[in-house]
Amino acid sequence: MNEKLLSLSQVTPGIITGAAKQYSTPFYLYDEKVIEDRCDQLKSMPNPFGLKVSFAMKANSTRAILQIIAGKGLDIDASSLNEVKRAQMAGIRPDRILLTTQEVPLSREREDLERLMKEGLKYNVCSLRQLQLIADFAAKNKIPLSMRVHPGKGSGESITRNTGDKYSCFGIHLSVIEQALEFARSKGVVFERVHVHIGSGGDPEVWRENIDLELGFTERYFPDATIINFGGGLREARMPDESRADIQALGAYAKKRIEEFHDRTGRKLTMEIEPGTYAVALSGFLVTSVMDKKDTGTGGFRFLVVDGGMETNARPLLYGSRHPFFVVSKDGRLLSGEFSPSGRRESFVVAGRCCESGDTLTLDDQHHIVERSMAEPEVDDFLVLGGCGAYCSTMTPFNYNSHTQIPEILLRKNGDLVLIRKAQDLAQMVQNEVSLT
Ligand SMILES: *Cc1c(COP(=O)(O)O)cnc(C)c1O
Repeated sequence: MNEKLLSLSQVTPGIITGAAKQYSTPFYLYDEKVIEDRCDQLKSMPNPFGLKVSFAMKANSTRAILQIIAGKGLDIDASSLNEVKRAQMAGIRPDRILLTTQEVPLSREREDLERLMKEGLKYNVCSLRQLQLIADFAAKNKIPLSMRVHPGKGSGESITRNTGDKYSCFGIHLSVIEQALEFARSKGVVFERVHVHIGSGGDPEVWRENIDLELGFTERYFPDATIINFGGGLREARMPDESRADIQALGAYAKKRIEEFHDRTGRKLTMEIEPGTYAVALSGFLVTSVMDKKDTGTGGFRFLVVDGGMETNARPLLYGSRHPFFVVSKDGRLLSGEFSPSGRRESFVVAGRCCESGDTLTLDDQHHIVERSMAEPEVDDFLVLGGCGAYCSTMTPFNYNSHTQIPEILLRKNGDLVLIRKAQDLAQMVQNEVSLT
């Protein structure tokens, strides 16, 4: 009952069964302690002249989660104006938010952006057009801007999560940077921050190369910049064979390079990072029940059908991402865990409940359905997925097959279980539809 699922987490099989009695499956369960520990680790990253850590809230935008993270002193990296407004609803002031978006501020959005910038929101221009649209306002109000530079080099766990190379269009590419800066100068716009984000789950080697590249173009192009933002992309290890970013080592490297920059130029740059994954990924569990068991005959597969598949965690389908599986019996025993090799294991494919052949939680990065090894559960036992704190609740097609968005539960540090997001109901799902009759 008391064996922890992950060594760093407080979640035990007993907590899973207790939560499932109170709130029926499927649901997300977050561990407050993991989030706080991760925030502490991030804040301890070595740096020479100050460090600001912001949380990339697209990884998890639930209000209570934002409040925990803001309470630890992290600021917010927002990907849209709505994210800025949502962070504000969680009690976070605009001057603690940096907006880095693909959106282009026009009409109503433009008014909102300008109002928020006057209240302290920092705006990271990501294209020439964004710069052209905001330049006069920024210059007139003496609001310094930030520029996201496309460094031409990136890294990610998969091609579609690489945001720095030629396949992605995030930021102002180095090939047009002189044009952008010429325009900014003509308008009297000042850049206080230089920003690069190379991609999610990036390779630490590429992270280091980008520190060098970014310091290089900061020296060459941004004489006024006082802040260097290295983006997110700090890798987390969800599975036993994955490796996590070494915050101390990456920080030590950045520190050395920023000190050398200071020796060369006399300029002291404040360092910023904006992790999403690293802050929250391991805090979240997706708790599902095994509803059915089937097989596809000789030479086929044995299937476990669970009540939360692609509509609760799209990462396997989108990226072939693997999440650790924990099989918990309905009376609260851990039958198998990804990190505890005990017990008899068999091979299963885990399918969700959507009428969609890709609705499988066991896919590889070529989109092939693959088996995973675990204890055989009985119907009504629980299959729990770890590593579901980032890009699960925020990135899934909840209403596909008319399933309703699932609730979110928080395990507080004192052991209390609290509901932080109610389940959506069917009436809410259809409330904006307009009937013909
Ligand atoms: C998504 C994103 C991040 C966070 O990336 P992680 O891989 O989750 O750390 C940081 N900065 C920007 C601009 C992003 O778009």
